[in-house]
This record gives sequence, C-alpha cells and structure tokens, in this order.
Amino acid sequence: MSIQYHHDVLIVGSGAAGLCLALRLADHAHIALISKTSLTESSTLYAQGGISVALDKHDSIESHIEDTLNAGAGLCDSDVVTYTVNHARTCAQWLIDHGVPFTRDLQANGGNEFHLTREGGHSHRRIIHSADATGRAIEKTLAQQAREHTNIDIFENHIAIDLITGNKMGFNVNRCLGAYVLDQGLHKVDVFSARHVILATGGAGKVYLYTSNPDVANGDGIAMAWRAGCRVANMEFIQFHPTCLYHPQAKSFLITEAVRGEGGKLLLPDGIPFMKSFDTRGELAPRDIVARAIDHEMKRLGEKCVYLDISHKPADFIRQHFPNVYKRCLEFGYDITKKPIPVVPAAHYLCGGVMTDIHGRTDIEGLYAVGEMAFTGLHGANRMASNSLLECIVFAESASLDILHQLQNYPLPGELPPWDESRVTDSDEEVVVTHNWDELRRFMWDYVGIVRTNKRLQRAKHRTDLLLQEIAEYYSNFRVTSDLIELRNLVIVADLIIRSAIQRKESRGLHYTLDYPEPDQRQPATNTILMPANYLAGRWAVERQSA
Ligand SMILES: Cc1cc2nc3c(=O)[nH]c(=O)nc-3n(C[C@H](O)[C@H](O)[C@H](O)COP(=O)(O)OP(=O)(O)OC[C@H]3O[C@@H](n4cnc5c(N)ncnc54)[C@H](O)[C@@H]3O)c2cc1C
Repeated sequence: MSIQYHHDVLIVGSGAAGLCLALRLADHAHIALISKTSLTESSTLYAQGGISVALDKHDSIESHIEDTLNAGAGLCDSDVVTYTVNHARTCAQWLIDHGVPFTRDLQANGGNEFHLTREGGHSHRRIIHSADATGRAIEKTLAQQAREHTNIDIFENHIAIDLITGNKMGFNVNRCLGAYVLDQGLHKVDVFSARHVILATGGAGKVYLYTSNPDVANGDGIAMAWRAGCRVANMEFIQFHPTCLYHPQAKSFLITEAVRGEGGKLLLPDGIPFMKSFDTRGELAPRDIVARAIDHEMKRLGEKCVYLDISHKPADFIRQHFPNVYKRCLEFGYDITKKPIPVVPAAHYLCGGVMTDIHGRTDIEGLYAVGEMAFTGLHGANRMASNSLLECIVFAESASLDILHQLQNYPLPGELPPWDESRVTDSDEEVVVTHNWDELRRFMWDYVGIVRTNKRLQRAKHRTDLLLQEIAEYYSNFRVTSDLIELRNLVIVADLIIRSAIQRKESRGLHYTLDYPEPDQRQPATNTILMPANYLAGRWAVERQSA
C-alpha cells in the first residue's frame, strides 16, 4: 500500500550537501531525508583531498578568490565566488564543531592548528583534510548525528522519481509540493509532501563509461528539476581525472595525482613514455592536459588503457607513500612495486547543473538545489580542487537560512494525488534497459568525452534522440524499477550535456573541441543556459545577478 508522508522539509540526497542541510534545519523543522541506497553512499564518502579554506597566515581570502577565478577560465560569477570564499571559515568551523576530525599540524602551535595541504591551482597551502579520507570523515560524522536527531526521518533505499509541482496540479503558482519516491524494499511508490523540497543528489559521472563517481551519481536531481521546468547551465564542463585504475571489477578507483608527482611515468602498451610530446612538463602538466594526452593516445592506437609506472622507485618508498593505492592494486593482481598500473581517464566532476541563486533557490518556488547538482556560478569553466565540498557546505548554510526564514509562510500541501500505475505492467524485456544503459555510457565516452568534435557531438545527438524516444515509450508502458528510473534520467542528462557542448563554439576550461581549439576572444565569455519547454519565467525565476 502506497503511503503519504508529510514533512516541513523534504531533502533528496544524503551526501555533504543533504546532511549539512538536514542538521542545520532539524532543530526547527520536521525533516524527511531520503537516500537512494545506504545513508552514507555518495561521492562525498570517497572524497580524498579535502576542503579549501584560507587559514594559513600567508594566505588570504583575496588570494583564494583570485585562484578560483583563474581556474574558472572567465566564467565564474565573481559575486558567488566572493560569497563562497567569505563563508568558508565559518562553514568549516561548523563542521569542526560537529566533530569532523580534521588532521592537526602537530609541529605548529602545539597541535592547535589544522594541517593544510596544497593542490593544483591553489597558490597557498589551503586544504583542510582528514588524512587521505576527508569525505569519509565528514559523511560518517554527520550521518551519525542525523540518525540520532529525533526530528529527522531517514528513508534509505528510497529513490526519488519525480517532483510534484503546483503548476502541474492546477495551482496558480509553479510551486514544488513534494515528490514521488520508490521504496526499493517494498517495490511501491510513496508520496512525500513538504513545504520545501531540496534536491542534493550529487553529480552525474555515471553518464560516462569510466568514472571516479559511485553508482548513485546518476544526475537524477538534474533530470527531475529539468522535467519540472528548471533551467540548467554549463553542462558541457565535465572534469576528467587522468588516472583511474582500469580493471573490470575495480569500479571508480582513483590513482592519486601524487603518484605522478613522485616520478610515476605514463607509458603506452609497448612501454614508450609519451607525455613529453604533449607538454614540456610531461606527467606534471595540469590534469586536463594529461587527460587529453591519454585520450589521444588511446584513440590513436585503439587501446583500452595506458600504463602508469612507479616501479623504478624503491618498494619501501612506494608502500610508505601510497599505502592505499598499493593495497587496492594488489587486490586486483597488480603489484605496483614491480609493474605498471593500467589506467584510464575518468569522468570526475560536473561543473554545471540546475541554476540557483545564492540561497540555492531554483526557478520553481519552494524547490532548492544544493551541492554538485547545482549550478551556482562558483566553478565557471573549470573547478578548482577542493572547492566542491566547500560549495556543498556554504550553500547548505545559505539555503537553510532562507528556508528557516520562510518556513511558516507556507502551509503544508496536504494530500497529493497518489502514483498512478493503472496503465502499466511489469516489464517483460529488462534487456532493453541494460542494453540502452551500456550503449549510452559508451557513446558518451567515445563522442562526448575529453576531446570533442562537431561530428562526434552530432553522432551522439542522433543516438540520444532515439534513446529519449525509446525510453519514454518504455517508461510509459512498464512499472518503474530503480534501473529504469536511472536510465530515464541518465539519457536526459546525456542530452543536456550534448546540447550544451554543441552550443559552445570554442574551447574553454574543461570543454575542448578540435573544431574550435581556442577560446572565443571576440565576445565576453557566456554561460550555456538551456530552457526546458515548460519553463515559466516569472517571479520565482532565479535572478542570479540580484541575489
Ligand atoms: C573520488 C572522488 C574524490 C573527490 N575528492 C574531492 C576533494 O578532495 N575535495 C572536494 O572538494 N571534492 C572532491 N570530490 C567532489 C566531491 O566529493 C563532490 O562534489 C561532493 O561530495 C558532492 O556532494 P553532494 O552532497 O552534492 O553529493 P553526493 O555526496 O554525491 O550525495 C548525493 C546523494 O544523493 C543521493 N541520491 C541521488 N539520486 C537520488 C535519488 N533519485 N533519490 C534519492 N537519493 C538520491 C545519493 O544516494 C547520495 O546520498 C571528489 C569526488 C570523488 C568522486
């Protein structure tokens, strides 16, 4: 039997963004927190590096702003960058106050200061971290507190299908009233109504064959918001990490950049090094250049991977510096002290997403988007390392303040129409879903990956046009399953990426095309904004500049 749940706030997603929001709101509001699988499974859980905060005495907020703007290649919204960086210290302090165990610098000031690391693009040591598993420390600490809070109802193994909006239901305003959610344990669709709905569903790495993201990173929230009438922006800017372990069972395991930093060489299958012919800095060239070089060689030779070799270093040095990489590779049969590691680049981070203002508000009244799925304007055309967790925690704060301010202004929506299954049956051809899923991820990798061309993008567009039609038809005939929900969302996200990439007639930041290999200098850089057919420009349309 389908259930109707009523809460003040519905939060979809329990990564850094969703958990911070839940805990910030829970003393004042009754929260439903839903998560696709287990509470902690998320990109946040796997974040290794940390969060950027200008804490070093030689560092400054101005320098953090400048580095972020430089990385963004002319497309960052400077107001948003300033806002985010200005709130970094207080939001990091909130995490510290909530018990996140950031690593301390035992040499400095009697261990009273936090240890800071340095990453690409940052001109200072600026990254607070919890050893080499920062995301795990954040996720586990906050999840535990969410579980203990009596005002937070947690729904694990629940997958949101679609938003319910007032406009769709004959209300005067385009207001978000809740969502339909599949209970994966009981195989039924429940209705969640709320005064405010927050999407915090993370990125969309799964749209590509190779990704560092976990399976939950499917772009669900972006597709749901798009279908409901929200604009999305800058979907063409996908960050690829150059080196992910290549092995059929080793899903999403990153080989840290530090392996190259310590002298690791990238080799072709015949053992020939190739990076120097792409960039004089060789293996130490910036991430996007290394990723492009690997992609080029794989495509040229028709190979499935290249190799990263650190075995010329003493075995003890390797084991001491890279204990996790050593251990994980050994599990898959690669002793990295003796032989090279097979690697491929992998989709890592989505800079674009659902357009929001500085409070996380979307184009639909009552609907917020926070975290990796949101386009706030912070990252521009390229994300600076460790600014993404920062964005999660800063926008969780700003959205929570806005929601608390408005909470009592809106009544609970009351009973909403139940999910209608009267015209669907159980699928008799699950193979359609798996086949389309595999096809989509492969052509996205081959045609819409690290290096793009007009021809490749058009090929991909033809395929998504067909798949959109086929999947919509399948969706309207058969009962929903989690795989079908994800595939339906994945093809929409793929289509949004392709359309955005086709629109950008230049190479900028993370978008590189052989047909326009340089940035377009003739006019100011602009965001790629896509409008859904049901977009209702009005009072609630996000006014980015006036936020
Ligand atoms: C390997 C790796 C290393 C990284 N390292 C760093 C780093 O060092 N520093 C940094 O700043 N960033 C890093 N990033 C990026 C950063 O981790 C993410 O951008 C950030 O964690 C995203 O947080 P989020 O809360 O937006 O989404 P996530 O943490 O991905 O959480 C999304 C949540 O939404 C849920 N969900 C999704 N769809 C649905 C649905 N339909 N219904 C219900 N629930 C749903 C998921 O189950 C999950 O709970 C890294 C990312 C990866 C993958």
